[in-house]
Amino acid sequence: MSGNQPDARNFIAGEWIAGDGEKRPSTNPADGRVLGYYSPGSAALTEQAVVAARALFDAGTWAASPRIRAQALFELADRLEAARDELVDLIVAENGKLRSEAIGEMMGSISETRYYAGLARNIFGRTFEGAPGSISLLHREPAGVAGIIVPWNAPVTLLMRSLAPALAAGCTTVVKPAPQTPLVHARVMRCVAECPSLPKGAVNSVNENGTEVGEALVASEDVDVISFTGSSATGKKIMAGAAPTLKRLSLELGGKAPAIVFPDADMDLATRELTRGSLVMAGQMCVAATRFLVHEAAHEEFRSRIRQAFSAIKTGPGDRSESQMGAMIDLPSRDRIVSLIERAGDEGRMVLKGAVPGGDLAQGAFVTPTLFEIDDLASPLVQEEHFGPIVSIETFADEADAVRKANATRYGLAASLFTTDLNRATRVSRAIRTGTVWLNCHTRLFAEGETGGYRQSGLGRLHGVEGLNDFLETKHVYLEAGAV
Ligand code: NAD
Repeated sequence: MSGNQPDARNFIAGEWIAGDGEKRPSTNPADGRVLGYYSPGSAALTEQAVVAARALFDAGTWAASPRIRAQALFELADRLEAARDELVDLIVAENGKLRSEAIGEMMGSISETRYYAGLARNIFGRTFEGAPGSISLLHREPAGVAGIIVPWNAPVTLLMRSLAPALAAGCTTVVKPAPQTPLVHARVMRCVAECPSLPKGAVNSVNENGTEVGEALVASEDVDVISFTGSSATGKKIMAGAAPTLKRLSLELGGKAPAIVFPDADMDLATRELTRGSLVMAGQMCVAATRFLVHEAAHEEFRSRIRQAFSAIKTGPGDRSESQMGAMIDLPSRDRIVSLIERAGDEGRMVLKGAVPGGDLAQGAFVTPTLFEIDDLASPLVQEEHFGPIVSIETFADEADAVRKANATRYGLAASLFTTDLNRATRVSRAIRTGTVWLNCHTRLFAEGETGGYRQSGLGRLHGVEGLNDFLETKHVYLEAGAV
């Protein structure tokens, strides 16, 4: 502890370990207040954590004990549930999101952990007899040591989305949390430390401020899988860093989700869903709607409704009941959005200009929502992920034009369609090249349904039964019955 403030350490083989470097503060993005400190790790500590994970994996008992793994995950879900209110407070303080969003994050994480606790006892292979007496046994085996790298925007959900299937599959793990949310992460690690069925070394965690720990994990000969959630730019660096050891990669990367509004859409519903679906977590969500593609015939009506809805949003601290959109993660992110607003005004047509609010919010990482119209598909304003409360409105002439425009970025994470025509919804949802398509809603994520990216939004799937695949190998044992 530093004074009365928490001190987030590294967690290796069941021990809390201070790093070699100087402690770093973690601050509340709403007011800049220091909330506590964390001890950054190093490449050497990463190696120590990998050795602990490797030793447990190679001992074999964890990998061969699905019932114990299920029990450990149920214990972890119970501990997360017991710490729920404390974690909600910490998420609001350290991340800046709304209390309702933090509650949703905790409920989703607990549900996810229980879902994979159940699946741990349902990992089955196959058998077949290719010819009389020629018997093939296809085993599903854990892949080994998994390195898990998580971002700050949903520090509990995105950790559990990788950690729970990794443990269910029988892997051991080394986690690298985001430097922006170390206190939330350390509280989750305390829950991990309290699970009697979880052996020491199954979950290790090394903090960092920079890239040394992440790079060491990616380069390590003893790490078999990297499960990374973060931007496409970092995903590419990880792919390059993993090439010398030919590691398996699970990459959940950036997005630029289009929301297509047809003229027959229920406009009340579309406005409500897309206001929430784009401004959730102040737009800092990989699947948030960032491009409204609107049919020419519906354009004026939709623009007027969405403008009204966006301008009514109250931006403010996540712990104030009247706030409807929280803070961004830090001041540099706020300032990045402010300069994008200027650029959108120059290149496009401003519909609603966001700004840094005054009064007691002026020093926090707040910026109000922006809407702008743009026709140039090639503009970086349309092509790049902005990760903030700024959304473009574009128009389309017909269904083919809508699909062409929706598919016109290098991302392929998520999209939504608003129409009451089921035939059209079916056709268009199949033509869109994204891992998820929502019909008449936006942003519905839950443990049972796979998520992941097409194109530069990633590799592999998390959530659902396929979420286990990143952490499993298939082994073929063949025998000739006559010979045994
Ligand atoms: P980021 O890519 O900047 O960083 C993610 C993590 O990678 C950080 O913890 C960082 O320390 C680490 N890192 C950076 N360089 C590294 C390297 N060379 N080797 C190993 N690790 C390295 O992303 P961010 O700003 O933390 O998060 C926002 C991004 O995450 C957005 O692009 C968002 O779309 C994406 N995201 C995707 C999903 C999804 O499910 N697809 C979910 C949430 C967030």
